[in-house]
Amino acid sequence: MQLETRAVHAGRQVDPATGAVMPPIHLSTTFERDADGAYPHGYIYTRSGNPNRQALEQCLAQLEGGAAAAAFSSGMAATMAVLQAFQPGDHVLLPADVYYGTRKLAQEIFRPWGLAVSTVDMADLEQVRAAIQPQTRLVWVETPSNPLLKITDIAAVAEMAHRVGARCVVDNTWATPVLQQPLSLGADLAMHATTKYLGGHSDLLGGALIAREEDDFFLRIREIQATGGAVPSPFDCWLLLRSIRTLPYRMRAHCHNGLAVARFLQEHPRVEAVHYPGLASHPGHTVAARQMQGFGGMLSIQVAGGADAAMAVASRVRLFTRATSLGGVESLIEHRASVEGPASTTPPNLLRLSVGLEHPDDLIADLAQALG
Ligand SMILES: *Cc1c(COP(=O)(O)O)cnc(C)c1O
Repeated sequence: MQLETRAVHAGRQVDPATGAVMPPIHLSTTFERDADGAYPHGYIYTRSGNPNRQALEQCLAQLEGGAAAAAFSSGMAATMAVLQAFQPGDHVLLPADVYYGTRKLAQEIFRPWGLAVSTVDMADLEQVRAAIQPQTRLVWVETPSNPLLKITDIAAVAEMAHRVGARCVVDNTWATPVLQQPLSLGADLAMHATTKYLGGHSDLLGGALIAREEDDFFLRIREIQATGGAVPSPFDCWLLLRSIRTLPYRMRAHCHNGLAVARFLQEHPRVEAVHYPGLASHPGHTVAARQMQGFGGMLSIQVAGGADAAMAVASRVRLFTRATSLGGVESLIEHRASVEGPASTTPPNLLRLSVGLEHPDDLIADLAQALG
């Protein structure tokens, strides 16, 4: 079945108890045993399993074309479960411009636990080849990257990882399964901050891992999920599943608006650079066009005149909201360097835009007046 159909129907069934067309929210933390000790519905305690979470996980697995999925209480909790599945001494390779929280987690929490962590420019395959070591067990990919929208060739990196017996995990948050299917390109796991496009309305926090195969590695992650307990609440699972029903149509509009805004900004004299993989001038455009079905609603720009000029543009917007995060119906603008702090490697004149579902003409008019 096509993606739109899967998005509507995966994990959905008419409630057998009431005939409700849409699922009830099962807040109960505990489930009754039969007299003989059996658990007739398969649920015991909601940390290890809950009907709302199971429906969500079934839907996520079908959307990504995976064998199984595990839902978490945040994107970082999902990333943490991946890192926890490795052993002291294992080497983890990250993209140099990986999501700020991912780098912080790997370097500040997992280095002291014994993981060896290094970073490389993953848009450059020669550098990736040189950075993979015999003890590399995980190659983490994030494409498009944050905040420079660099593009990594997923199939090529997955193959390099597999040659030394390492796993390849792709943070697919910015692309979503609508625009990019990492598992079909050879990745072992797709990761999502469902907080972003999958949630889509800036009102829930969540994460997910979807596995190509339900192998020992994924069973270990399941164990970490249920035992560690960083699981989403039944209400968050319900809300996320509701949001996913419209994901393919929302993504189409995000792509349409993103491209319109990028094209406008590319021509603007006060904009030094536009980072959007949908522009033919973007260095990753060819790879993006091959492995993505659309270029998404995220872009970043570098404003002429440095950090102060960028902050001034952000101060003048009226329709865009100055806030972090992304993927909601509302457009957001953010000066990344000042959010990331002194250790940031982000250019100081960079503004990141999450282009929402307003009419693109209104968004362009707002940016035009803010750029002056
Ligand atoms: C937001 C984000 C995360 C972290 O997700 P949280 O839900 O905030 O924990 C990870 N990766 C990317 C690319 C993100 O945008």
